[in-house]
Amino acid sequence: MISPLLYESHCHTPLCKHAVGEPDEYAAVALARGFKGITFTCHCPLPDGFSASVRMAPEEYDDYVAMIAATREAFAGRLDVRLGLESDFYPGVEPWLEKLHARAPLSHVLGSIHYQVADYRKLYYTGDFLSYQKIYFEHLALSAESGLFDTLAHPDLIKNESPLEWDFEKIRPQLARTLDRIAATGVAMELNTSGVQKSLPEMNPSPSQLVMMRERGIPVVIGADAHVPERVGDGYPTALRLLQAAGYTEVSFFLDRKRQAISILDALSQLESEPSDGLHLASPSLMV
Ligand SMILES: [Zn+2]
Ligand SMILES: [Zn+2]
Repeated sequence: MISPLLYESHCHTPLCKHAVGEPDEYAAVALARGFKGITFTCHCPLPDGFSASVRMAPEEYDDYVAMIAATREAFAGRLDVRLGLESDFYPGVEPWLEKLHARAPLSHVLGSIHYQVADYRKLYYTGDFLSYQKIYFEHLALSAESGLFDTLAHPDLIKNESPLEWDFEKIRPQLARTLDRIAATGVAMELNTSGVQKSLPEMNPSPSQLVMMRERGIPVVIGADAHVPERVGDGYPTALRLLQAAGYTEVSFFLDRKRQAISILDALSQLESEPSDGLHLASPSLMV
């Protein structure tokens, strides 16, 4: 066992109205599981009531910043607690996010396309799965090109829209062009371990997509996307091995919005054991 190196880079707070547990409880799990730090990335406020039922309200943002600062204080010297954000991307939201991201110093900003939220679907759902997938991957490329994000979260989430119809080979040509555009921006992509709980039960993205990302040199950040404290760090050893299988030798995380890379072998040796499967809680696939 070497000294802690890894960060949990994606987790939530009750402010988003669909996560439970106080930030101190999430931090305690990160500490117990041998992490060096944890970055909170709760769902950002959005303008005009967009998707308001699953995120903090604009007037709660200062409370969020204060809440994470208090946890940072409480764990000083034991665990490095960081303020981050999971921001939704859709065309037109960029000026709002630019202002929001400048309000407080953020350590890690995730960009997410939540195809399943009603307000997004209203704007972009086209009536069939294949064209909805194409819009999703076009928005994924645009989100990288916006320059607003460090890491693109769960970057094949769309497969949960219709697991039986998901056909990787059908989308591969567009995905290749999407990943070319993302690679050109230098933005990282996430390997999100919560995918195993969704309607298509595998991490996001798939092993096939991870290989295409590695071929293009796209860095990967692991995140458990915990909405309950018990899921902090969940699945990291499996995720690290998936990265190895795709040909990666390094895993990344962000501190003060600068990418840090460590060897996967070192990361694996810091994590003593896979968190017990008994900790998995069922979560509806419509959750964001
Ligand atoms: Zn999340
Ligand atoms: Zn969520």
